[in-house]
Amino acid sequence: MNYGINIGIVGAGLGGMTAAVALQQRGFHNVTVFEQASQLGEIGAGITVGPNITLILAGLGLEDAAESFASATTTFGTNHYQTGERILFTERSIEQALATQGAVVRHLHRADLHKVLENAFNTEGNALRLNHTLKHIEQDAVDQEDGGVSLHFTNGATERCDVVIACDGLKSVVRDTLFDTQPPTFTGFLTWRGLVEADDVPGLDVVPHFAGYPSEGRMFARYPLRRFRQINWVANAYQPDATGEESWNDWTDVSEVLEHMGDYHPEVQRIIKASPGGRCLRWALHSRQPLDSWTAGRVVLLGDAAHPMTPFYGMGAGMAFEDAAVLARCFEADTGDWQAAFARYEKARLARANKFHVKSLERGKTYMSANPADRAKDPTDGMKREFTYNAMTVEI
Ligand SMILES: Cc1cc2nc3c(=O)[nH]c(=O)nc-3n(C[C@H](O)[C@H](O)[C@H](O)COP(=O)(O)OP(=O)(O)OC[C@H]3O[C@@H](n4cnc5c(N)ncnc54)[C@H](O)[C@@H]3O)c2cc1C
Repeated sequence: MNYGINIGIVGAGLGGMTAAVALQQRGFHNVTVFEQASQLGEIGAGITVGPNITLILAGLGLEDAAESFASATTTFGTNHYQTGERILFTERSIEQALATQGAVVRHLHRADLHKVLENAFNTEGNALRLNHTLKHIEQDAVDQEDGGVSLHFTNGATERCDVVIACDGLKSVVRDTLFDTQPPTFTGFLTWRGLVEADDVPGLDVVPHFAGYPSEGRMFARYPLRRFRQINWVANAYQPDATGEESWNDWTDVSEVLEHMGDYHPEVQRIIKASPGGRCLRWALHSRQPLDSWTAGRVVLLGDAAHPMTPFYGMGAGMAFEDAAVLARCFEADTGDWQAAFARYEKARLARANKFHVKSLERGKTYMSANPADRAKDPTDGMKREFTYNAMTVEI
């Protein structure tokens, strides 16, 4: 099948690229991705690829490609932030993961995951336009014959599409232009992330593979990447009076992190100090209110543009992958009737994504609670069923 509808995707992040690949695989070959960056690829940091993402990668025929970068994560734990003692330890073999969740968890370098999608996208016919920063979007009425959407870019280009999928992230220009929405607000959480060479932290015990070290108002976690050659770390501190941006380009000195983690276990401090050049990335985590609808005429939101959530369930990208897989299935189910597909997509996705949106902020507060019993809770507590969602087969 080759559907003729001309679909524009704004943003080549994980959400936009997954949508682009999934649509092409379902017979939508008139898809163009517009990205502001001059080259694709994500910055140096890791990402939790939960079973929900693995199921989508498998459905797109990309699981082997993901596996070539990272083996399954099979041990997970919570350690005491000062003594390093195990508070919670879970071992889930590959067989157990397949039996209980349908798929394994992996931890991937974001650039590797992005590469998997990039390699799967057929860019023939100039289907990927880099250096295209969307400045303004306008559209014709939905019932206008030969109507469409005009995308105006800062490089002077204007492109016409039948419909647009907006995957332009937290600071979405599309959301700001077409939806009734407030600007992003600071959640009170600061996050720092670093990537260190495993050789620079000799003797590090990497079991459990994923280890969290929560304390009141703070949290540290680390997991291996690239088959244990690198260690990804992330630190959080609740600092409601702090200021700053949510950006993938904001670098800081690790001394800023150590100011907050000075009483943490020496192993934690050793990892942070091993960050190349003594530098790491810093975010002031921002969010927006959940929306009641992601559709405005011929335009639909996907991923962080629709539901920019805090990372405390490690589910932001997971939701973007799920949105993309489900939206492509909706386009196919409605044989390119975009109005029906948008309605079907919203019905299938909005409640679930908004649930994670709200719950992930609550989860951050529980994980960093003053009460040690809260901090020792299994991160999936109360949400277990939600982690077995399969976007490739769920009813739409
Ligand atoms: C510290 C931190 C840790 C996280 N950890 C995890 C994790 O472990 N697991 C997980 O599932 N999620 C995690 N997330 C969330 C995850 O990163 C996001 O939810 C995910 O990247 C969203 O993908 P997206 O494609 O919707 O948006 P983005 O990744 O933000 O991509 C948006 C794309 O649009 C482009 N763009 C933006 N504006 C324009 C414009 N005007 N014109 C053209 N292009 C534009 C951008 O350059 C970018 O390529 C984390 C987030 C943070 C901040």
